[in-house]
Amino acid sequence: MQTNFSPAQLANPHVAESEKILRKCVHCGFCTATCPTYVTLGNELDSPRGRIYLIKDMLENGRPADKEIVTHIDRCLSCLACMTTCPSGVNYMHLVDHARAHIQQTYKRPLLDRLTRAMLAFVLPYPRRFRAALKLAKLGKPFIGLFEKIPALKPLGAMLKLAPASIPAASPMALPGIHAGQLAKRGRVAILTGCAQSVLDPGINDTAISLLTRLGVEVVVPPGEGCCGALVHHMGREEAALASARQNVDAWTRAIDKGGLDAIIITASGCGTTIKDYGFMLRLDPAYADKAARVSALAKDITEYLSAIDLPEPVRKPGAVVAYHSACSMQHGQKITRQPKELLARAGFIVREPREGHLCCGSAGTYNILQPEISARLRDRKVKNIEATGAAIVATGNIGCITQIASAARMPVVHTVKLLDWAYGGPRPEGVSEERLVAAE
Ligand code: SF4
Ligand code: SF4
Repeated sequence: MQTNFSPAQLANPHVAESEKILRKCVHCGFCTATCPTYVTLGNELDSPRGRIYLIKDMLENGRPADKEIVTHIDRCLSCLACMTTCPSGVNYMHLVDHARAHIQQTYKRPLLDRLTRAMLAFVLPYPRRFRAALKLAKLGKPFIGLFEKIPALKPLGAMLKLAPASIPAASPMALPGIHAGQLAKRGRVAILTGCAQSVLDPGINDTAISLLTRLGVEVVVPPGEGCCGALVHHMGREEAALASARQNVDAWTRAIDKGGLDAIIITASGCGTTIKDYGFMLRLDPAYADKAARVSALAKDITEYLSAIDLPEPVRKPGAVVAYHSACSMQHGQKITRQPKELLARAGFIVREPREGHLCCGSAGTYNILQPEISARLRDRKVKNIEATGAAIVATGNIGCITQIASAARMPVVHTVKLLDWAYGGPRPEGVSEERLVAAE
């Protein structure tokens, strides 16, 4: 694609990066076919190619964002299916991240939208605040129907709907410390405790720690870790995202300096995609660029790490049919497609892949709160495809997808590591009966 930026514009490194990306796009439109919002809404402006044109026009003309571009960029899930499809290697992720930051800096949203976003950014990345908010949400549940009738309050209704009926207790395993391996030491890793997942399902990280230590891997929970920054990053709040990234880079650098790390384990693929991008996000900060690149290189999804080490024979023989839902951040963001399925199959599960596996379930960070209608359409389409597999259980590697799919599916939805842990001798995943785990078709 031809671009027309002035030398003065290109002196801005963010614009220069976006220009490089724009020039790679050859307008072929292959990406439209796999874009969930284009498939759902049928509007070219809600396709990757349409959004690329809008972003190009806004950046080239150096103008503030307007209602039209905000509407279509807000509808983008950042699922990155377009990047998997694109034959020209267009880095849509970095382009849309830049556009979102530009929108945040130049566009004044309506008051309620601003308040909703400010509240999400204030609450979600902080486990204590999030836990308190979920307790409060119980009081708001009776008003869901009312909120859903008022367009500006729909995000509030969506938030209350997603809030779980009960909140698990915080896990002591998430506190800073070292979990020693139970066999001869075969590795040392740090684990991201993160934010929303540690409140919604602390059992995911507990299970990962338990499985890793049983396999002889020492797991460090470094002091000072926090939210990876993805939630605010996707809302265009660049400074807040970079502050989170720096905080984590510092925490993991201290852990590397203290005893070395073979990997930084992440059990939420949405966080993994962002942490693997820290090297790019902090490339312009001389104090952090190298450290961030080192952290990104060490970041591994739990399934990526497990598939690279020798696993013993499973203790149990499951036999259950599992529908594997590949989170967008897993398959498109991190290109991890093979490992979770292979691990499940090796553990004795029969793995089925739902049709249209490339399409997002509609969770996408805060998308199911901010765009509840499109999100619900994508969720229902996803659940229909999952249920058509005839599976007894759904496995996936991202807390957002677990919450989203579980809100409509008739079978249990669990993190992949919980099924693996059970097969390798751990406890039965909560909410999944023994019959479901062992029943063959
Ligand atoms: S990130 Fe997803 S929703 Fe956004 S343009 Fe690409 S395919 Fe479409
Ligand atoms: S597939 Fe790639 S090159 Fe083709 S229109 Fe989409 S982003 Fe541009």
